[in-house]
Amino acid sequence: MSEAATLASLPTAFLSDRIHAMQESQTISMAKKARELAAQGADVISLSFGEPDFQTPQYIKDAAKKALDDGHTFYTPVPGIPELRQAICDKLLRDNQLHYDRENIVVSTGAKQALANAVLSLVNPGDEVIVFAPYWVSYEEMVKLAEGTTVQLMGSLENDFKVTAQELETAITPRTKLIMYSSPCNPTGAVFSREELAAIAEVVARHPQVYVLADEIYEYINFTEEHVSLAQFAEIKDRVITVNGFSKGYAMTGWRVGYLAARKEIAAACEKIQSQITSGTCSIAQRAALAALQGGRTSADVMVEAYRRRRDLVLDLARDIPGLKTPTPSGAFYVFPDVTGYFGKTTPHGHTIDTACDLAMYLLNDAYVAAVDGGAFGAPNCIRFSTAAADEKLREAFVRIKDSLAKLV
Ligand code: PMP
Ligand code: GLU
Repeated sequence: MSEAATLASLPTAFLSDRIHAMQESQTISMAKKARELAAQGADVISLSFGEPDFQTPQYIKDAAKKALDDGHTFYTPVPGIPELRQAICDKLLRDNQLHYDRENIVVSTGAKQALANAVLSLVNPGDEVIVFAPYWVSYEEMVKLAEGTTVQLMGSLENDFKVTAQELETAITPRTKLIMYSSPCNPTGAVFSREELAAIAEVVARHPQVYVLADEIYEYINFTEEHVSLAQFAEIKDRVITVNGFSKGYAMTGWRVGYLAARKEIAAACEKIQSQITSGTCSIAQRAALAALQGGRTSADVMVEAYRRRRDLVLDLARDIPGLKTPTPSGAFYVFPDVTGYFGKTTPHGHTIDTACDLAMYLLNDAYVAAVDGGAFGAPNCIRFSTAAADEKLREAFVRIKDSLAKLV
């Protein structure tokens, strides 16, 4: 089967309703389209996939080689090797002032599986899950898988898309079971401050049936003064599940290691799911992750400086294009401009740009620059560009974007 084949192009009536209800990840499908175009010979610059362009630091690779040579090739305990769970407890104490024991930690096949485990452990059919929008693509589909109902709560552009405590209060109903958000946020790069999270914690404290999934995978890629974990607010700590991982801070996307920290009952529930579905993640990758944590955050700090420089570069380039309204991201490695200025315009081929998806497709086909339609993140007025690419690629991409956008009339 060619990589290009998608379920939509195949006869699928025999597959489950669950699969029919689920959308393919649009970050991944856009990356696939860009690869197809490149395979046909086009010089595509892919700013669609959110992935560090750095190699995993050498000391982490060395630890993986050693793990192999030392014979760590067997099944591990389902929630992770004890040394790694302990190192995660130490990290949470050092970086986040959070006290957890090993039994509170479950290591998974990426933060993605940690998130899915938590959603499946908590959400019953019909439960409402408030997802702060713009949100990361997979949240809504995970809630669907658990047969919950997603309630999108959109932050305002004036507040850098951040949902306020008052907005949250009005969205909570007796059926609300879970709240999901990321900070630093994928796709907006917005970072919640201590005051903002304190106010949100106060609201959550008043609703004892509500749990919060705090996705902190971009913790280290933060250009503000501090990263605040919602679990630091003691009155709700028991109802906060903190998700983090190694993909972003340590440039380890392919290794597939993430984790969550939660009260023991939730951790045990996630372990139960993994015991039936994956038996836990790769033994060698876990040893590499252990070395990553033991090395502290020095390697991450070096990468963050590059992400900051590229953020500033891309902001300059994007703000030089009149139709893009681009807020300043405070973390992660994306810019998320509003592109409504181009809606209603016509391409040189006579197609009208009605949506951000149309614009993303136009940029792919005309400028050979891949970006992701904001609709995938619950923000249909925007498109997302990853800034995790070399400076010269970013410069070249924005020259092409500017030229292509200038052709719209
Ligand atoms: N959460 C967010 C907000 C992300 O951007 C990603 C990136 N893939 C993940 C979770 C999942 O990360 P992982 O590679 O550890 O599964
Ligand atoms: N987190 C990245 C993104 O948002 C990787 C893609 C994915 O895991 O969906 O693009």
